[in-house]
Amino acid sequence: MPCRVRRRGASLSGHRILLIDGNSESHADYRRLLAPDAPAAPGGDGPGESSRAAVESTQLGSDGVNLVREARASGHPFQLVFFDLNGADLLPSLDASRELLNHDADLQLVLYAPEGPEADHHIRTRVGASDRVLVLKKPFGSVDLVLLARSLQARWADGLRGLARGGGVEHAGYEHGAQTAAVLLHDPLTGLPNRTLFTDRLAAAIERQERHPELHFAVVFIDLDRFKLINDSLGHSVGDILLIEVARRIESCLRSSDRLSYESPPARLGGDEFLVLLEDLRGDHDAARVAERMLVRVSEPYLVAGHELRLTASIGIATSKRNYTVAGDMVRDANTAMSRAKEAGRGGYVLFGEQMHRAATARLSLENELRRAVDQQQLRLYYQPIIALADGRLAGFESLVRWEHPHYRALPISAIIAVAEETGLIHRLGLWVLEEACRQLTTWNTLFPELPDISVSVNLSRRQLIDPELPRRVAEVIMRGLREPRRLAFEITEGAVLQDPDASGDVLRALAAMGVKLHLDDFGTGYSAISCLHELPLHSLKIDRMFLSKICEQPKRAVVVEAIIAMARACDLEVVAEGVETAEQAELLRKLGCDFVQGFHVGRPVDAATAEAFMRARLAATPG
Ligand code: C2E
Ligand code: MG
Ligand code: MG
Repeated sequence: MPCRVRRRGASLSGHRILLIDGNSESHADYRRLLAPDAPAAPGGDGPGESSRAAVESTQLGSDGVNLVREARASGHPFQLVFFDLNGADLLPSLDASRELLNHDADLQLVLYAPEGPEADHHIRTRVGASDRVLVLKKPFGSVDLVLLARSLQARWADGLRGLARGGGVEHAGYEHGAQTAAVLLHDPLTGLPNRTLFTDRLAAAIERQERHPELHFAVVFIDLDRFKLINDSLGHSVGDILLIEVARRIESCLRSSDRLSYESPPARLGGDEFLVLLEDLRGDHDAARVAERMLVRVSEPYLVAGHELRLTASIGIATSKRNYTVAGDMVRDANTAMSRAKEAGRGGYVLFGEQMHRAATARLSLENELRRAVDQQQLRLYYQPIIALADGRLAGFESLVRWEHPHYRALPISAIIAVAEETGLIHRLGLWVLEEACRQLTTWNTLFPELPDISVSVNLSRRQLIDPELPRRVAEVIMRGLREPRRLAFEITEGAVLQDPDASGDVLRALAAMGVKLHLDDFGTGYSAISCLHELPLHSLKIDRMFLSKICEQPKRAVVVEAIIAMARACDLEVVAEGVETAEQAELLRKLGCDFVQGFHVGRPVDAATAEAFMRARLAATPG
């Protein structure tokens, strides 16, 4: 029996697919499969439309990255990239894979990976886990390839474009029963549908509602509370058993005797997240009733491997009242509502509402504007002076990024950095900051030969600190013209180090080996890991301004600061006090043995021109 592929609308036509495969002979095979010359099947693409996807190919990962970047910039991006890692140089190829994802936030990437735990490890650490990446092991049949391409295309179209009225996304031929397709559409642990299959079903519900506006349905997003704790303390096998049991209980809430009829089983998104599509509802309250039932069922005790365990879940609901046209939007809103349920104290449910919609839209435009600001280099770097207490000498500047945007100027820059971290923009933002700071330092070298020792420090955020690529990027920037790496410093926080001490330790040691200095920032604000003072190649410690705010009024605070200074001394570290606002504070710090001060008392963060004026004024005031 031929493979029955339900065709509804666009299929692969008009889409761009990129193939990266070192073996150029296989390029033609892919092209034959993904972009057949044959005319569209009956009931397929409309008259005049081509049924062909544009399949482009290259042999090198780096060329692939360039093609994706150019395609994105031209407004006609690729939707799907197949990258064959077999026979290629694995590590550079994985780096290229990550770059592909960085260049295009909507790209779906399929990696054909070699077998073996080592490859898996490298993929995890270099590319990361994301629902935009699918890892396949060869051999992989040609039918499967086409099904997979179609379902990924559907996901892409669904996430970005919405369903064109009267059209729709392509549905892969699930009925065909191809084993691999079934595997690709289901979660191996619970056997439940996965996100791809769920999205497909949701898209169908949305389409039905377009024809029958009276239909009500809802997406329920379920996330277990503190599940990681169980996994970490009792082990993954207990965690797995629990997840299967939770899935079973969620499902049992859908089979009910009341008039609600639910056809689809829950879907598992991976981890401890589940999605349910509720159909044929009378209104929002029906969805709320099911959610309440789920909360009760999930919180009943579990008996696993001799332990009696308790769990709660947080639930977010998005209902069809908002007339969604894109399945991905509805799932996203249910997810947002779930996050609100967590914030509200866990163990409850929240319906997605107007207020949340406004907040989500605002957040989205912030992300877009920030992306544009980074792309178009609209950020500015400011510099705040740091002074040596012993002789009043200018030791250098801390660079601090600024974004002069009419809407977002008032937002604290730390909040902007947090958004950049969550969206992954931090890598490009951080690279720009680094390049700009080094450029400025080189300029100042030439302009101020009388100040041969001033340094510039650059803040590194959490995600940058565990990026194995960071040392290479820094080395490149240094090689481009920074003659004295010792005049460049990085500021890192304890929290950032503690999130992954091994990975960040590797990065920091690589940086220190290049001769740049490392400062531990905001010391005392987090869980201070005194051990990291010894183990990391640090040069100085910056006492957070929290400690200094009342240092002159409250003797106890001075004692704490004195103790921190003594500890730093014992570890051979210099001490910088941050947020010094008055001459009294600076004087007290000098007496306590602090080496450097930074704060409004000395100077606020200013642009490069004002920093230069500051240096000239200090040089003019210094005799000789
Ligand atoms: P930070 O690295 O601890 O920077 C010091 C912060 O204290 C700066 O805030 C600075 O303006 C402020 N400050 C300095 N002296 C005083 C003072 O006397 N009184 C008071 N009240 N505040 C003072 P800013 O510029 O808002 O930056 C906040 C945080 O955002 C920074 O804390 C840093 O963690 C982050 N950040 C700023 N620029 C960058 C950047 O380029 N990259 C990264 N990753 N993070 C950055
Ligand atoms: Mg700092
Ligand atoms: Mg600080």
